[in-house]
Amino acid sequence: MSELFVGGRWVPARSGGRREICCPADGTLVATVDEAGAEDTVAAISAARTAFDSGEWPATSAVDRGALLHRVADRLLQDKAAIARAESLDTGKRYVESQYDVDDVVAVFRYYAGTAGEDAGRVVDSGRRDVVSRVVHEPVGVCGLITPWNYPLLQVAWKVAPALAAGCTFVLKPSELTPSTAIALIGILADVGLPPGVANLVLGAGPQAGAPLAEHPDVDLVSFTGGLMTGRAVMAAAAGTVKRVALELGGKNPNIVFADADMDAALDLGLTAVFLHSGQVCSAGARLVVDVAVHDEFVDELVTRAQKIRLGGPFDPAAETGPLISAAHRDKVQRYVDGGIAEGARLRCGGRRPDDPGLDDGCYYLPTILDDCRSDMSVVQEESFGPVLTVERFTDEDDAVRIANDSRYGLAGAVWTSDAGRAERVAARLRMGTVWINDYHPYVPQAEWGGYKQSGIGRELGRAGLAEYRETKHIWHNIRPAAQHWFGA
Ligand code: NDP
Repeated sequence: MSELFVGGRWVPARSGGRREICCPADGTLVATVDEAGAEDTVAAISAARTAFDSGEWPATSAVDRGALLHRVADRLLQDKAAIARAESLDTGKRYVESQYDVDDVVAVFRYYAGTAGEDAGRVVDSGRRDVVSRVVHEPVGVCGLITPWNYPLLQVAWKVAPALAAGCTFVLKPSELTPSTAIALIGILADVGLPPGVANLVLGAGPQAGAPLAEHPDVDLVSFTGGLMTGRAVMAAAAGTVKRVALELGGKNPNIVFADADMDAALDLGLTAVFLHSGQVCSAGARLVVDVAVHDEFVDELVTRAQKIRLGGPFDPAAETGPLISAAHRDKVQRYVDGGIAEGARLRCGGRRPDDPGLDDGCYYLPTILDDCRSDMSVVQEESFGPVLTVERFTDEDDAVRIANDSRYGLAGAVWTSDAGRAERVAARLRMGTVWINDYHPYVPQAEWGGYKQSGIGRELGRAGLAEYRETKHIWHNIRPAAQHWFGA
């Protein structure tokens, strides 16, 4: 049984609500957790407000904040096996992938431990000897942090680590489907000495447990990662109190392959781009935009390889990828595939659940490739967030860029070519927050992550990821005050 964490204590949900967490790989019960209502979230906001306004954390030195983040990283490494196991049980993803995720989470905490003291501010030229003018950075205040289910702990870490580095307090609302690793992290934060009220956790559904974080006047910033429609609702709700808004939304990311690319690498990474974690990745390369000159051979080989991908549960050593998060999500993916076929796409592989009766209890879906797609199809424009690759052809560089940018999203994309000049030209023209050249998916905590267009507002990771959690203040200090006599009186 897991409860909510408010004001430094584990407390039951006031509503008495409970939720069962089941593994999407086989439906087994993994955990039972309390389910917060709005009144629980309001109580958590109040605790975070008190800790910010009257507590010691915002005034703790950057060195001490960094040291605490290092202690969190140490504990995460110590507990890595248990945390990775919990992540796999909640999400159904392979245990080895969850272990990589914990390593990435550790790297994020270490990075922000090192940057907590960076850029404390600067003295600016006032043009006067009797004035000291300086710009300082302060923690933004109480933060509402709302996260999705695909990389549960990683998405939490991208917010919690910079928020703490900046000296903020927060209320975290993880996905209702995957709360276990957020619970573990909050336990670690308490163990390593974070003062009560700085970190608060509410579990439950978005419209009840999450919505107050966008609406409440005592929250200074809402940082949200999730789908476009929810992001719009969060932004609209936040407008009522004009709070800071950071949004990491979806993507429909093009993977552009020119005829002169290293074909073996482009095929291999093209497969990983879209089918990693069964496509449940915001930056998934779900749109193949391929040179018409190599389309046939490239797609034929991609289909051959996709058909060999082995599906299985988190602890199946033969599995190469796992299930979708839920049966409802699988139904949504199926609707996109059916819609694409109805609009004229050619199904090359997948497009249905696997035949293997051993996978019947899980939410599995076969790697799917839809050829002969056009940019105006909804399966091309909208995020299915499943293992679905759409294929479009281009005739030249301008055509490739035009097709790739034909999207309301602008999160990430890749270009494959052996012509360095062309690679740079295309990278410069793509309206996306991340562009990979001859690669797909890697990221580092030192580099900003986020989207152009409707993929979001603001950046996570890197220096900008810390800046999200800071206010900027100009202090003008007249050290020889004297009357000016602007008015004659
Ligand atoms: P959702 O938008 O459905 O949910 C995200 C979070 O918002 C969940 O915690 C959800 O709660 C909560 N929520 C739902 N409604 C509200 C509301 N009215 N007010 C406040 N909070 C609310 O996204 P998914 O969880 O389905 O995640 C998948 C999406 O996330 C994809 O679109 C993906 O692209 C995006 N994503 C973007 C990333 C990026 O870096 N740009 C990274 C990872 C994912 P509940 O628990 O009830 O669902």
